[in-house]
Parts: sequence; structure tokens; C-alpha cells
Amino acid sequence: MNVLIFAESSEGNFKKAVFEAVSYGKQVAEGGEVVALCASAQMPSDDVLASLGTYGANKVLKSAIQEDRPAAMADVLASAAKEVNAEVIIVSNNYNGKSIAPAVAVALDASIATGVISVPDTANGFSVKRGVFSGKGFGHVALNGAVKVLAITPNTFAIQEGGSHASVSDFAASIGANAYQVKSSSIDKVQGKIPLTEAELVVSAGRGMKGPENWGMIEELASLLGAATACSKPVADMDWRPHEEHVGQTGITIKPNLYIAIGISGAIQHLAGVSSSKVIVVINKDPEAPFFKVADYGIVGDAFDVVPKLIEAAKVLKSAQ
Ligand SMILES: Cc1cc2nc3c(=O)[nH]c(=O)nc-3n(C[C@H](O)[C@H](O)[C@H](O)COP(=O)(O)OP(=O)(O)OC[C@H]3O[C@@H](n4cnc5c(N)ncnc54)[C@H](O)[C@@H]3O)c2cc1C
Repeated sequence: MNVLIFAESSEGNFKKAVFEAVSYGKQVAEGGEVVALCASAQMPSDDVLASLGTYGANKVLKSAIQEDRPAAMADVLASAAKEVNAEVIIVSNNYNGKSIAPAVAVALDASIATGVISVPDTANGFSVKRGVFSGKGFGHVALNGAVKVLAITPNTFAIQEGGSHASVSDFAASIGANAYQVKSSSIDKVQGKIPLTEAELVVSAGRGMKGPENWGMIEELASLLGAATACSKPVADMDWRPHEEHVGQTGITIKPNLYIAIGISGAIQHLAGVSSSKVIVVINKDPEAPFFKVADYGIVGDAFDVVPKLIEAAKVLKSAQ
């Protein structure tokens, strides 16, 4: 079947989630055409676009838009889907993907599944597995429309290399009058930090740290490990840490390979955002802290004793590399 993948770019480059989506699309296509579409105001170079062939794209369409707005991207993606007769459209289930996927499904009268964590089962129809109830359960959904939109969960599917460069061509699409109605007046980009949503390693801390003045050791550990920093909701609410670090039901949902939770109790609302992490390490002085129930590794101890020891161990490990 023909598959179209939304290849989201940032400052002229692709992030890991795009390579995952293209690799996934290649599997879904089962020999059909694999097309990637990049719609951006800061278009990557043709070489960067063509490199998506490495992950399985046969063809890459590029469409310059006025501003990187999800509504404009959705219009282009829906037009491209018609153009290439795509049966399956794949986006990453990230900020933009979550806006784009439903708009494309409406435009194409397509079935949609978000938070997808499996390749489709096509033995009897077309069904996928997705996370439900903030990751506490799984749902198997059948998509019965002729066209299907899948928003796949980042950090779930392996990147597969091995293809050669894809062909690159321009794609012109008409963009609806509403697409640019929301204008960003300014963008403050967080500099020099690993974005939480893309991080493979996360060091997170909670109210057990007592105050913002004690975050130096959290940042030092994160920096030594090459990890992003995160925090619990009360910590962000008290302005100990910026709100973009708040994970959980009302914050960001993440799925890193390693989540280190320091001085966080493990309330259900916190777990909703982090319980899909591949390995969870909990450091808490209370052996009864609920977080230990979902931990792969637990250290019962005072963060102010344990974290400096982890920092020393990380330094030794780094100097040996
Ligand atoms: C509608 C709703 C939505 C919510 N959404 C979220 C959300 O998205 N994210 C979120 O995080 N919370 C959320 N909450 C809040 C949540 O219920 C908890 O109150 C919150 O997660 C607790 O944060 P905490 O673990 O940092 O603090 P606490 O509950 O105060 O826990 C601190 C922990 O640190 C340990 N500790 C203390 N001192 C030390 C030390 N020296 N060394 C080691 N450990 C120590 C304690 O034993 C304790 O387990 C929500 C609540 C509601 C009602």
C-alpha cells in the first residue's frame, strides 16, 4: 500500500522522530510506495531531504509554507495524500503531529488512531495497538476507512537504515485562508538543553529536593549523563523549575529509555506522564513511596547523600571512556 509520512523539520534538519516514522512507514508499506512530505518555512537542503531514503523513503516531496503552522502543514499533507494515493498517512504523535493528524483525517474522511505503539495487523482488516488511560492500558483499534491516519508514539519504533537516497521534488498545495490565522509574535527557544520530549535519558526531581537552590546537583548529574531535566508539578507550580519541565497528567508525557526520579512520591498523576519509560530508577528516602511499585531499580536513601555519589560514579565512568 502507498504510505505518506509527515517529515517535520526544525531549522532545516530532521529529528530522530522522523527517522522512526519513515522506518515505520517502510514496514507498513509492505513493498508499496513510501513517500515523505516536508512542509516548512525553513526547508532542509535537498541533500538532507534525500537522506530520508536511508530509512526507506522512495520519494520526498518538499513544500515551502509561509510559516510553520500546523494548520498549513495539515493542508499540504492532505493534498499530498490525494496526490500520491496514500492509503496510510503517518505522523509522529508529538506537539505538531497531534494537531495535524485529526485535521488531515477530517480533510480526507479517514480513520485515525493516535498514540500508536504497534505496526498494523493486516491479517484481518487493519488494526493497531495504542496506549489508553494515560498509558495504564492498551487498546486494539480497527480502522475501517479506506484511508488511515496513524500518529505513532515517539521512541517506540526502531530506526532502520539501509536504503539509498530518495528522489526529491517540489509539491505545490493550496493552503486554506484559516491556516495562518494564529500568528506567533515571538518565539523564545530554550538554548543549550536537550529537549525533554526527545530525550533518551531524563533526570527528574520533586519536592524532596526542598528548594530550587538544590537543583545544581540534579543539573550536574543530567549534564554528566547527557540527560534532560524534568520535575513534578508542585515544583513547577512553586517556580522552582520552569513549566516546560513539568511531566505528568497535566504536563508532558515522555517515554525515555531511562527515567531517574529523585525525591518524587510517584502520585498517579505524575506516573501518567512517565510510566511508559523503558527503565525507571527511583531515589526516595521513604521506602513506602508509591514510585517504588513501578521502579525497575530503587534506592532507599536521602537524595542529598545518594545524588553526589551518583555524580562521582558518573565522573569516573566518563573519565574511563
Ligand atoms: C488534577 C491533578 C493533576 C495533577 N497533575 C500532575 C502532573 O501532571 N504531574 C505531577 O507531578 N503531579 C501532578 N499532580 C500532583 C500530584 O498529585 C502530586 O501532588 C505531585 O506529583 C507530588 O509531587 P512530588 O512527588 O514532587 O512531592 P511530594 O508528594 O511532596 O513527594 C516528595 C517525595 O520526596 C521524598 N523525599 C523527601 N525528602 C527527600 C530526600 N531528602 N531524599 C529523597 N527523597 C525525599 C518524600 O519521601 C516524598 O516521597 C496533579 C494533581 C491533580 C489533583
